Amino acid sequence: MDILQRFVTQDELTGLPVWLLAAFVAALGAIIGSFLNVVIHRVPREESIAFPASHCPSCGTAIRPYDNIPVVSWAVLRGRCRSCRVPISARYPSVELLTAALFALTYALHSGLTLSLPFDLAFVAAIVALVFIDAEHMILPNVITYPGFALALPARAVVPNLYGVASFGDGQVPPWLLSLGGAVLGALVGGGFLWLVGWLWERLRGVEAMGLGDVKMMLMVGAFLGWPLTLLTIFVGVLTGSVAGVAAMARRGERDMQMLLPFGIFLGLGSLVSLLFGAQIIDWYVAKF
Ligand SMILES: [Zn+2]
Repeated sequence: MDILQRFVTQDELTGLPVWLLAAFVAALGAIIGSFLNVVIHRVPREESIAFPASHCPSCGTAIRPYDNIPVVSWAVLRGRCRSCRVPISARYPSVELLTAALFALTYALHSGLTLSLPFDLAFVAAIVALVFIDAEHMILPNVITYPGFALALPARAVVPNLYGVASFGDGQVPPWLLSLGGAVLGALVGGGFLWLVGWLWERLRGVEAMGLGDVKMMLMVGAFLGWPLTLLTIFVGVLTGSVAGVAAMARRGERDMQMLLPFGIFLGLGSLVSLLFGAQIIDWYVAKF
């Protein structure tokens, strides 16, 4: 109901049909997704994301502008380089489509046409990049998590998120400051929890369970989402990560949990679920008791 309400409001606000705005945000998502493909490919290889211009990783031919249209070009070229015909990974259109869908969902289900929208879209983009880099390289690069954390703080000051901290101030503290405090609290909860689990695991098993990348990722997620949604993120991440871990172990016949699952994938999934549906999930859960 709340979502529908917001749809109606926006329609009245801009005079444009919501599907048109959603399609526009999705198109923006496809373009950003195209950029994320560059980030996903180059950042783990420590290459510049600006230079040189996009080129075929196989033959080195520069990609022409008309061959660089998100999703469409890949389909037109049937997933092959125009020059050398070497297959281009399906990851490219997948990232573009996924980012388009997530952008449209973020707009329609969460942000609407508010000041929150650009910050939320930047957060989603960072999560998509982290998930795909972690899946391939098992790292969560600092060049994404540090700026992500640094951007989350001003974002929370400009667009206050008082979820979970509204009762702290008693009306004495201005919303932006209360929200900023909430962001720091969220970062401590997210980063602290992951750090503690890693520390305990190391103590108990004598092996490193997770890299500090997960901790830094959760600093960013925690600051952006606040502590209640951060706990939900960890819950969803652990739940889906465990299911995937058990499934992978069963398939490979391994018995050791030490298989190094890229946990960032599941934390990313959890943070997107939390961003889009988290408040409703928590409100529903709290109302049950
Ligand atoms: Zn080529």
